[in-house]
Amino acid sequence: MSQIVVVEDEPAIAELISINLRHAGHQVTLAATAEAARQEVDAMLPDLVVLDWMLPGQSGLALARFWRANARTRDLPIIMLTARGEEIDKVAGLDAGADDYLTKPFSTQELMARIRAVLRRKLPEALDDVVELAGLRIDPATHRISRGEVDLKMGPTEFRLLHFLMTHPERVHSRAQLLDRVWGDHVFIEERTVDVHVKRLREALSHAQCAGMVETVRGAGYRLTRHATLAPT
Ligand code: CA
Repeated sequence: MSQIVVVEDEPAIAELISINLRHAGHQVTLAATAEAARQEVDAMLPDLVVLDWMLPGQSGLALARFWRANARTRDLPIIMLTARGEEIDKVAGLDAGADDYLTKPFSTQELMARIRAVLRRKLPEALDDVVELAGLRIDPATHRISRGEVDLKMGPTEFRLLHFLMTHPERVHSRAQLLDRVWGDHVFIEERTVDVHVKRLREALSHAQCAGMVETVRGAGYRLTRHATLAPT
C-alpha cells in the first residue's frame, strides 16, 4: 500500500482517479491547487504524485520543477496528466522531471498500470508484490515471511527493514539511508538503532538458516545478498 497525492482541479477527474486508486489499495489525498499540493507533500512526503499540468495559479509543470529542485522531494515519483497531446509538451513534462506522462482522456486501467510501473522502478518497497530471493520469500499483503517450509516471525520494524532490503538487494545501504527509507524522514533516531534492528532481523532469519544474507559492509552499511552460502532448511 502506498500514499498517493492526486493534484487535479477538476473534481470529477480527481474523484474518478481517487476511487480507482483506493480500490487498488492505495491511500489517496486530493489537492486542487499547487499550493495545497505543496502543503500535502511537505506534510507526508508521499510515495507518488499524480499531477495535472493545467491548474489554477501555479502550473503542474512549475510544481514538478520545484519538487525536483528540492533535496527532500528530488526523487518523488511524479506522473503528469495533461489535456495537451503535443510531442513538445510531453518533452517539456519529462524535462521538468515527470517520471511518466499521460494525455487526457486516458483509461483508468492505463493510469494504474503506469503508476505500478513507476513505483516498481523507483519505489518497489511501496508495492505489495511478493519478493523472493535465494528461497527467502516475503509477502507484504499477508505479512508472511518464509524460507522453504519454515515460517519466520519478526517485529514490524524488522519486517519493513527486510522488505526494503529484499526490494533493493545487492546494494549497500548506509545507516542514514535505511533510517530515511525504512523509518521515514520525519524521525530523528540514532543510527545505532539500525544496528539493533539488524541484529534482531538476523536472529529471526537464523531460524531458517539465512541470517548470512544480511551482510555488514564495514564503514559503509548493510547489504542483502542472494549469494551468501546458506544451509538448506
Ligand atoms: Ca486541470
